[in-house]
Amino acid sequence: MGERRCEQCKGPMPILARAHALTCSPRCRKARSRARTAVPGELRGRDRWVRRSADKVPLRADTGRPASSTDPATWASHGEAAASAHGAGLGYVLADGDDVVVLDLDHCLSGGRLALWAAEILAACPPTFAEVSPSGTGLHIWGRGRLDRGRRIRRPDGAAIEAYSSGRYIALGHRYGRAPLVLADLGDVLDSLL
Ligand SMILES: [Zn+2]
Repeated sequence: MGERRCEQCKGPMPILARAHALTCSPRCRKARSRARTAVPGELRGRDRWVRRSADKVPLRADTGRPASSTDPATWASHGEAAASAHGAGLGYVLADGDDVVVLDLDHCLSGGRLALWAAEILAACPPTFAEVSPSGTGLHIWGRGRLDRGRRIRRPDGAAIEAYSSGRYIALGHRYGRAPLVLADLGDVLDSLL
């Protein structure tokens, strides 16, 4: 077995580190967590944030009660949602007129490896933010664009591609690798896919 390395600083792990530890120190653990939950400033700056339950129900950051993807009164700032202890993580509402679009690629990640079809779609996109769905098996590609309605493409292998830009909320997982913290224009990609 090779020498274990800290996933944050790539330094050697302490000899007495727990078997499942990924980082060498509390400092690296915090830094890794911050890096994994980083989101583009363009999303952070909008009051479109909610919490989500473990089974992906959107929740209000202030009360923990169900939130609605069509009622802005149930949304919050990123700071408020990130600080909230309700639910299991963050969600973001795609609101009409924001021109924020998400490509939701189902069942494309296994053991951290991206399926070829999904890698091809990601490669076709200009560098843009992407995160791994809470289940760990899906990829959300974020960008700028507008759709008049949600779209769904079922692939021959049973996986699906969905695209939304309004009336939906996205349950955020963690940043995909070192995905850039920007939203690129996905208009051309949407035109070719949908
Ligand atoms: Zn470290």
